[in-house]
Formats: sequence, structure tokens, C-alpha cells
Amino acid sequence: MTNKYNVAVFHGDGIGPEIMGPTVNILAKMSDASSDYDLTFIDAPAGAAHYAETGESLPESSMETARAADAILLSAMGLPDVRYDDGTEISPQIDLRKALTLFAGVRPVTVRKGQRTPLNMPQDKEIDFVLIRESTEGLFYTQGRGEVTKDEARETLLITRDISEKLFRFAFDLAHTRKKSGRGKGKVTCIDKANVFRAFAFFREMFDAEAAKHADLISDHAYVDATALWMVQKPWDFDVMVTENMFGDILSDLGAGLMGGLGLAPSADIGLEHAVFQPCHGSAPDIAGKGLANPFAMILSAAMMLDWLGIKHDNAAMRQDGTRLREAVEDVVASGDVLTRDLGGSASTKVAASAVLEAVIAK
Ligand code: NAD
Repeated sequence: MTNKYNVAVFHGDGIGPEIMGPTVNILAKMSDASSDYDLTFIDAPAGAAHYAETGESLPESSMETARAADAILLSAMGLPDVRYDDGTEISPQIDLRKALTLFAGVRPVTVRKGQRTPLNMPQDKEIDFVLIRESTEGLFYTQGRGEVTKDEARETLLITRDISEKLFRFAFDLAHTRKKSGRGKGKVTCIDKANVFRAFAFFREMFDAEAAKHADLISDHAYVDATALWMVQKPWDFDVMVTENMFGDILSDLGAGLMGGLGLAPSADIGLEHAVFQPCHGSAPDIAGKGLANPFAMILSAAMMLDWLGIKHDNAAMRQDGTRLREAVEDVVASGDVLTRDLGGSASTKVAASAVLEAVIAK
């Protein structure tokens, strides 16, 4: 029996359409070649350019497409010059996170042997960890609603039992899956500031309660400041890390830095029902339309989508194709022959994406 899945596609702004086109092309080719799954892609218009044209940043019809889809692929949205009347930027990716309760922001960080990294890595080490950033509350809770007077500014940090329990369950499940597939040592680290803030002592208490249900996994804690240090000094020690929204926002860019930049950093925003897969970077208006954009983070996000769909629907072929696609990108990056300008090469977006497609076919 063929398993059919609908994928909502947000092509986005700036370099968004340039990296989404080749990514959908690779996925379509993989789907066509498989008798175990069948992907259909449905375009969902949204974003800053759409707002400038129509006055709507995330039309209800696109929201419906996203809600009804089995998974959502999103490139990057927003343009610095296109803003709402209150001066803030158009960011439907954040609206989607809230509307679909996508509480787990998943940011994998991998540096394979041969891959460029600003670190001086010991030869026997590779980096392979996943940072999970809570994405619906924390210090982003009052985003856009903070109180500012002439002499004071206040924002509120919110940590709820409901979201935290779901978040920690997700983190331990991910550590199980990674351990089973031979990618992780089965360790979950709670990143907090429980030495100073009661809210983080509460966060940690709920983490410990979930940890107690997983005797087969290792759990530990680290303060966020020390974590920033260790991510530079010994990043290979981490497996699954879980943290609050603002801490995760900052640490995930540090993770992208370890990989040599945003062009290699994929992500997923996952809830109980829905999930959005998108690169960590933005719409890069400075290089849009020039064919210079690195498509790898977008393609790696698509690989995460195949893996997530495969786990959710118990479809081994999709999971295998997720791994195949991720490894194809890693092979191309490690060989160093076809790299875009941000990674020190001179390949165009199209040439880099074609190299991945060839590597997928060869696997
Ligand atoms: P950015 O990530 O777009 O760009 C930062 C730098 O990285 C730029 O020099 C850019 O050229 C480079 N870069 C980014 N992605 C690249 C890629 N794939 N290949 C090669 N180089 C790449 O961040 P910014 O300039 O701060 O933001 C630009 C716009 O994107 C803003 O409107 C911002 O709001 C939006 N944004 C959207 C998202 C999202 O959709 N998730 C995330 C961040 C920023």
C-alpha cells in the first residue's frame, strides 16, 4: 500500500524560493522512486512580499493548507523593509509556531570528519548533538507586549507545567530514538539557570520527574553560561540538550557557528500534531536573486521532515530516505568539492543542490 502525505510548502521571501525549488525537486524525485510513500506538495502563499502585494502576511487559506497537511516545509520569511504599522517585521513562521503549538524547536548540530569548523577539533572527534529550544513561552511570552515606560521596561518569563512536561517527554523520546539508531549515547541535559531563578528551579524539577521514568537514559543538568563554554570546549560530549526559549535562541546560533555558519543549520518546530521544517537562517536579502544561496540547511530540514514523518507513520522507507538525504549533504560538504560561497567555495545554489541529488541517487 502506498502511503500518501501532503506537504504544505511556504516558499517565503528573499532567497526562500531559490532554496525551496531545488529542495522540493529532490524530495519529489525520492518520492517518485519509492513505492512506500508518495508526497504531494501544496503551495501556501505567505510572507513579507505577499503582505506588500495583498495586505495579508499569512492568509487564512494558507493557514488551512498548513493545518490540513501532514508536514510543513518553510524556507525563510521576512524582509527588513516590509513592516507592519507598529514597526515590527512580518514573521508568519512565528505565527505558525504559536497557532499550531509547536513547542519543541529542534536544532541538530553535526560536524563530521572533514567538515570545516572554526574549532580546532581533535581528529578522533565528531560533533552530533540536538538542541531542543522550547518555542512557545519562556522569555518570548510577552513578545510584542512588554511594558515600557520612560524609566522602566518589563518582560515576563513564563514556564508552564503543561508545555514543560510535553517538552521533556519529547526530549527523552528523542534520546531513545537516537540511541536506538546508534547516533547518540542516550543522554539528556537540562540547560537552565536554576541557581538564580525560581522559575528555572521549577523547570528543572519537572525535568527530573520525567528523567526518573527513563532509567535506561542518562540525565544531567548544566547552567546556561557554562553550557556556552562547553559547547566551544567539548561539544562532542552533548547528545540531547533541552532548554528555555531565549537560552535556546542564543545557543542554537552558537551551534550553527560550530558547523561553520547558518548555511548548514537545519531546524524543526514540532508539536503533538504538526511540525514545520525550516533552515535556521533568514531570507538573506543581501544575496537574494544572485544564485549564491546555500541550499544545504533547507535540504537538511527536508531530511528531518522525512525522518519525522517516517517515525510518526511507522514508515521505515521514509526514515531511511531521511538518513540518505542527510548523509548525501554531509558527504558533499565533507568532500569540499561543491561548496557555496558562504562555505568557502564558488558553486551556485543550483550546482550545490544538484550535487546533493547526485549523491542521493548514488547511495
Ligand atoms: P539572515 O539569516 O537572512 O542573513 C544573515 C547573513 O547570513 C547574511 O549575510 C546572509 O547573506 C547570510 N546567509 C543566510 N542564509 C544564507 C544561505 N542559505 N546561504 C548563504 N548565506 C546565507 O539574517 P538577517 O539578515 O538578520 O535577516 C534577513 C531577513 O530574514 C529579516 O527580514 C529577518 O526578519 C528574516 N529572518 C527570517 C527567519 C525565518 O524565516 N525563520 C529567521 C531569521 C531572520
